[in-house]
Amino acid sequence: VEDAEYVVSLIRTIPDFPKPGIHFRDFTPAMTDARGLQLMLKALERTLPVPADQIDLIAGLEARGFLLGPALAAHLGKGFVPVRKAGKLPPETIKESYELEYGTASIEIETAAVHNGQRVLIVDDLIATGGTAAAAAKLIESAGGKVAGFSFVMELQGLDGRAALGDHPVASLTVMP
Ligand code: IMP
Repeated sequence: VEDAEYVVSLIRTIPDFPKPGIHFRDFTPAMTDARGLQLMLKALERTLPVPADQIDLIAGLEARGFLLGPALAAHLGKGFVPVRKAGKLPPETIKESYELEYGTASIEIETAAVHNGQRVLIVDDLIATGGTAAAAAKLIESAGGKVAGFSFVMELQGLDGRAALGDHPVASLTVMP
């Protein structure tokens, strides 16, 4: 627990970024700090929503899930699959669209990246409304995989992001106001 506290102490908040009124939670300093990065991976391992032997593959969400996901995957001895913003991956891909505060966004996965029945842990730096993570879960299932659960470094309080993720187990290192 002390280790997770050190990681959380490195997270910084940037007021009015990327637009006025938003308090951007930035975990990058916890990656830049050698001890922070190692402790973050250990904390994510310790709090995995399911035992590591029930995970076959880790999926990370563009862009900050690309920083965290491969590091955690290598730490656990798993493979990594990127979930990208639409239009970046070569075919064949599956696309999923979801609602943003203003408008919609689309993410994609390479169809062949997930094999039938593989149990996939979805990781990202932060869950707010859960819309992004829920869309990623649909992609995994459309590709033939099973969602093992979700791991986040940060969880924003009061948005009930977990409710968007159905019955899947969810872990986060810290809840932020
Ligand atoms: P959601 O779809 O509302 O849960 O938003 C989560 C997505 O937005 C994740 O991919 C996050 O990386 C990103 N996000 C939203 N707010 C923040 C923030 O304060 N810091 C870092 N990422 C954020």
